[in-house]
Amino acid sequence: MPRQAHLWRGVIEEYREWLPVTPQTPVISLGEGGTPLVHSGWLSGIVHGDVWLKVEGNNPTGSFKDRGMTAAISVACGEGAKAVVCASTGNTSASMTAYAAHAGLTPIVLVPHGKIAAGKMAQAVMCGATVIQLNGGFDQCLQVARDLADQYPVALVNSVNPVRIQGQKTASFEIVDVLGEAPDLHVLPVGNAGNISAYWLGYREYAEAGISQNTPAMWGFQAEGAAPFVLGHPIEHPETLATAIRIGNPASWHLAVAARDDSAGRIHAVTDQQILSAQRELASREGVFVEPASAAGVAGLLNSAAEVERGATVVITVTGHGLKDTETALSGVDSIVDSVIEPDVHAAAQVAGLV
Ligand SMILES: *Cc1c(COP(=O)(O)O)cnc(C)c1O
Repeated sequence: MPRQAHLWRGVIEEYREWLPVTPQTPVISLGEGGTPLVHSGWLSGIVHGDVWLKVEGNNPTGSFKDRGMTAAISVACGEGAKAVVCASTGNTSASMTAYAAHAGLTPIVLVPHGKIAAGKMAQAVMCGATVIQLNGGFDQCLQVARDLADQYPVALVNSVNPVRIQGQKTASFEIVDVLGEAPDLHVLPVGNAGNISAYWLGYREYAEAGISQNTPAMWGFQAEGAAPFVLGHPIEHPETLATAIRIGNPASWHLAVAARDDSAGRIHAVTDQQILSAQRELASREGVFVEPASAAGVAGLLNSAAEVERGATVVITVTGHGLKDTETALSGVDSIVDSVIEPDVHAAAQVAGLV
């Protein structure tokens, strides 16, 4: 018998019956989803359980945002949109512009003042976005994006658009489909809080349908300088080098609090130092290179390792690819080159420590 190759068809075709699409909805897909679940021997040893990494950097534009974007752009297209807008700390704009380009829509991007990782800006620029920088933070960008969509013929595709959350919940489906059951614990970074809300929705839907028997506790981690859920109120000037989670007034506040409380979970904070160290360790121990925000969940699990039940199955979503922000990654490295030598094999062996 010939082997039957299975081409992953993107999250809309793979999970169509769970999503708000009709047979008339045009499917705008770049083949997102179907991302690897990589076992981490290192983290499993530390928590005395089984820890898996859901590697969302493997999506078409390098972050989980593509799951929600295929759904939001497809629905917007079906409704006749010609232009789309988003506020973004980088990855939403990278994703939106790619899907807008594929669909032939005009992408408009609002970014906050201050640093946006160069890789993410390059993605938006190459895909033809009109990039507008605001003298304000992410939260102000989102307000202007909402107002643009209210007053002008342009569709808003931030995660306040409920279709985004619907698309993003497919990550939970994939995890249950691969593991055969929901994990005991799900760990992830929290910024605008759409993703923790989406995962919780996905886990609940599978449990309600009887596909899984359990739902996990949801553990979210914010950066210490941008931790409104930990403080219990929005903050004016969020600060962290993990720019993807530098958000002071999360749009999905109530959904995220429900995910935390209904799952008997938690949302705690980690320091920028812990984030950078987790980012480096994850790359050097597992070969999984993620952007700083994506390491917040790993840093959080390391902090709370003693509280994980022995033998637990844990999934950590690592949300975006390390190549998006090489500047931050290399900022902690004294020098990229360890030695300079003449082209001579013995000299190379010597400095490499082989003799
Ligand atoms: C968007 C994003 C987050 C935060 O997700 P929210 O849904 O805003 O909580 C974390 N990491 C990366 C890489 C992101 O792009």
